[in-house]
Amino acid sequence: MIVTHISTNYPADSALTYHYIKRLGQKYPFLSSESMGKSVLGRDITVLRLGFGPRRIFFFGAHHALEWITTLILLRFALDYCERKTRGGRFGEKSINEVFAETSAYVVPMVNPDGVDIVINGAASAGDERENVEKMLSGRDPSKVWQANARGVDLNHNYNARFDEGKRLEGEYGVTGPGPTRFGGPYYESEPETRAVCRFLRARRCELLLSLHTQGREIYSPGDSPESKAWLGELSRLSGYRAAVPEGIAACRGLCDWFALEFSRPAFTIEAGQGKNPLPLRDFDGIYAEVFPMLAAAVCGM
Ligand SMILES: [Zn+2]
Repeated sequence: MIVTHISTNYPADSALTYHYIKRLGQKYPFLSSESMGKSVLGRDITVLRLGFGPRRIFFFGAHHALEWITTLILLRFALDYCERKTRGGRFGEKSINEVFAETSAYVVPMVNPDGVDIVINGAASAGDERENVEKMLSGRDPSKVWQANARGVDLNHNYNARFDEGKRLEGEYGVTGPGPTRFGGPYYESEPETRAVCRFLRARRCELLLSLHTQGREIYSPGDSPESKAWLGELSRLSGYRAAVPEGIAACRGLCDWFALEFSRPAFTIEAGQGKNPLPLRDFDGIYAEVFPMLAAAVCGM
């Protein structure tokens, strides 16, 4: 028997994440995975698929490197979901087999593998970009400040939604060029990571999208359709998180902003947990208990 365990005693860098995904695939034959594209440094952006139904939903983690705990949340969710499928029985209001037949859940645990590795393993992990990363850090500790990809582009500011407005606001946040956070890139989808995400989503009709970040115990939604509002209320009720309206630079250029504009479907940025990024691993169980019901509800549908 293959023992699969997602440890929450230490962070998962890209190598450990790929290892976990491989083991999950070996243990649960109904779980498939593929690469949706490569990062700047050629690391895979892996997407897991659970279920085979026509209703497609997406979960994303670790756009922001300091927020690597979101990778562990999604890996643990994939494991729990696989375990429930193996045991059978009910999942929410439905049988687990019914949920599997209705919904395809696409789970992307780590959108930004290069950035996560810079945070966990240091600038030395950035290969050809090492010197450049060190210059952008100018002496700061990456494990406390690095949110961007290996070229100093903040991936959740690189999508095509009010891009020019976000660019104008960079100055107010002291952003003058590539660096650890909030630089949106020279133009939208300039980065291989965001291009991979957009390409994947454009090729599939997606019903619902949840993008995990930390922190604040808040849920942001750019959509104002009745369906979007209903989901926002439900997610907020399930988690105890506050429904919030994004403002300033946070209202521009994010995955959910772009997705809602392009597809007019509900999309939510979930700011999990509370504290200073990176959130400590001792908070994992509490955060997971808040986030799991939202992910499960998204999979089951309303
Ligand atoms: Zn974030």
